[in-house]
Amino acid sequence: MDVWPLPRIDARRCTGCERCVEICPTQALAQVAEKAVLRYPEQCVYCTLCEDICPTQAIALPFLVVFGDAQDK
Ligand code: SF4
Ligand code: SF4
Repeated sequence: MDVWPLPRIDARRCTGCERCVEICPTQALAQVAEKAVLRYPEQCVYCTLCEDICPTQAIALPFLVVFGDAQDK
């Protein structure tokens, strides 16, 4: 039950613009050393707002990835 997909932030892509930090409704994100980090993962409600607003696609929410039956052809 504790397995919960959380936003992943690619520090190499993050420019530190803080848009995600500002839009996060639960203050789960924070700016540390000019990079966004998921500081309070337990507060994340998985709203996807941070992913949507990030101008550099630094944030990815690992949605439920469903592997269909690979039927190439
Ligand atoms: S919105 Fe994207 S680029 Fe801006 S601080 Fe957040 S992760 Fe970094
Ligand atoms: S998914 Fe929503 S609650 Fe979670 S860190 Fe991003 S903006 Fe905050």
